[in-house]
Amino acid sequence: MMKPAYWEKQENDSIHCLLCPNDCVIKPGHVGNCKVRKNDQGALSLPYYGEISSLALDPIEKKPLYHFKPGSRILSIGFVGCSFKCPFCQNYSISQSTQAMTNHHSPADIVAIAQEHNSSGIAYTYSEPTIHFEFIRKTAELAHTAGLYNVIVSNGYLNHEPAEELLDLVDAANIDLKCYTEDFYKREIKGSLRPVLAFIKTAASKCALEVTTLIIPGKNDSTLELESIARFLGDINTDIPLHLSRYYPTYKYSIPPTPVQTMEKLAAAAGKYLTYIYLGNVGVRETNTSCPKCGNLLIRRAGYSTHITGLDGSVCSECGAQIPVVLSFKTPY
Ligand code: SF4
Repeated sequence: MMKPAYWEKQENDSIHCLLCPNDCVIKPGHVGNCKVRKNDQGALSLPYYGEISSLALDPIEKKPLYHFKPGSRILSIGFVGCSFKCPFCQNYSISQSTQAMTNHHSPADIVAIAQEHNSSGIAYTYSEPTIHFEFIRKTAELAHTAGLYNVIVSNGYLNHEPAEELLDLVDAANIDLKCYTEDFYKREIKGSLRPVLAFIKTAASKCALEVTTLIIPGKNDSTLELESIARFLGDINTDIPLHLSRYYPTYKYSIPPTPVQTMEKLAAAAGKYLTYIYLGNVGVRETNTSCPKCGNLLIRRAGYSTHITGLDGSVCSECGAQIPVVLSFKTPY
């Protein structure tokens, strides 16, 4: 069966890209906002298909995913380009430019590399993966056929139909929810909040989901904003893990780092609506998972060192409470 192409031809050989809410109309010889989807003589071309900017075997906690295969390592690949223009991007050298050095790999290459390194999954991460939809779709299908799982780390900015199609191939996701105001998304990121919220809802219904918010002083660090984020997620499922990541100055932002006290205050605010809140980028402190019912230490994490200490399968070894954690995973193929 023909796969959906997510673009349509317009007058004068222009094309309309239907992949993400940026809704680009691209003239011949030009690229869309993400810089990786091009109009080549009136048809969509993908000049960066299979151009991999980063490839590493990472702890899955680095994605971050804390409740999916804790303590495992995963082959992680990155691309170039992005559908957003975040002035605080930590990976701007690959997300905001297509000049980064890349190596070409086919989808089959990536699956073979994962298998060679005994990785039981593949993470599409580092820069925005969804704008490389066709490459991920093919790789993810091959990965499932080979018994590997798929993880995406994404800004969640994809139109509904491709989002449904992609998420059907994804087993775990970490989605950035950068703030809870349309104004911030529009003014600073050049995107929109509403489609991200829709993507998160769809992801929650299809895969293991965790969400990350980077806390930036003066931008999105009010208690009200964090409560709005946590309430939105809690209305979907109070067990969705929320990672609050501490901002450090980078790229176009020189605002000083987020005070740790702010991080702790916001974690407490979010904790009114969600069971599992984790702080990231806050130094050497442990980021453990404890049983919400009896307080038993379930998973101890220090940096990227992870030890499962209090789980029997996915239940608390002390009180028997069911814990939303995926320890082993079999693809349905
Ligand atoms: S995927 Fe790229 S080209 Fe397509 S609409 Fe989004 S930003 Fe534009």
